[in-house]
Amino acid sequence: FDQRDGFIWYNGALVPWREAKLHVLSHGLHYASAVFEGERAYDGVIFKSREHSERFRRSAQILDFEIPYSVEELDAAKGATVKANGMTNCYVRPVAWRGSEMMAVAAQNSTINVAIAVWDWPSMFDVETKMKGIKLDIAEYRRPDPATAPSLAKAAGLYMICTISKHRAERRGYADALMFDWQGRVAECTGANIFFVKDGEIHTPIADCFLDGITRRTVIGLAKKRGLNVIERRIMPDELTGMEECFICGTGAEVTPVSEAGPYKFTPGAISRQLIDDYSKEVQP
Ligand code: PMP
Repeated sequence: FDQRDGFIWYNGALVPWREAKLHVLSHGLHYASAVFEGERAYDGVIFKSREHSERFRRSAQILDFEIPYSVEELDAAKGATVKANGMTNCYVRPVAWRGSEMMAVAAQNSTINVAIAVWDWPSMFDVETKMKGIKLDIAEYRRPDPATAPSLAKAAGLYMICTISKHRAERRGYADALMFDWQGRVAECTGANIFFVKDGEIHTPIADCFLDGITRRTVIGLAKKRGLNVIERRIMPDELTGMEECFICGTGAEVTPVSEAGPYKFTPGAISRQLIDDYSKEVQP
């Protein structure tokens, strides 16, 4: 990924992609004092850029550091990075981390570094392929108790169990893994939130120990606009037997139907299709 043409915004300036380097003694690498964002530009405009910039700053504050750029400055920097790379439809990755000035658990005086990269990430499939649904494994790891980890931050450290779970799922022939929470309830996937449909109503877990995705909130709004009842509640795995449709959503996944999750089977249907459609219209500038 590091050997590409193009530009990365690095602490206030656009630098050639290959030169955007950091020192091996970066605190962010050793102690996971790092936060990031994942966004998409559609036709040259980043969808909900401001919300992502706000979450980016909030994630850092939860990890006890302050991103040295305002929301407006971040929005401008992201826009400039998209433009400098000649992209219109792309993924946008801001990342912030503590630098290499201090190498111990305590690192109050380290520099806060910020970089923004953009790359091509086509939407996964066409709608017909999507409607076949993806298959989910059940992850071994659970989302941690919010008293154990900064669950609501998009913090690099929280992705360690996501990467392990995703790798295991792929090895076993699945597209992704469904993760339960610390109490064994349905939580989310390794990089996306999850929804279920039953009797024309939408059910989704309460986002209090995992990321309340910007796509999740968007989809809830779109469903309500369609007059659908959206119920945020605790969902136990054995309830999945009665669910008719299931889909995941996130910046990367957009809205993607699911055909199975471990032993549970679903049939992608009209509501998933409607929300795929509504979401694809919503993201257009
Ligand atoms: N959960 C996790 C673990 C994620 O990585 C993501 C993607 N950022 C999401 C949920 C969905 O968040 P969003 O809709 O803001 O992309």
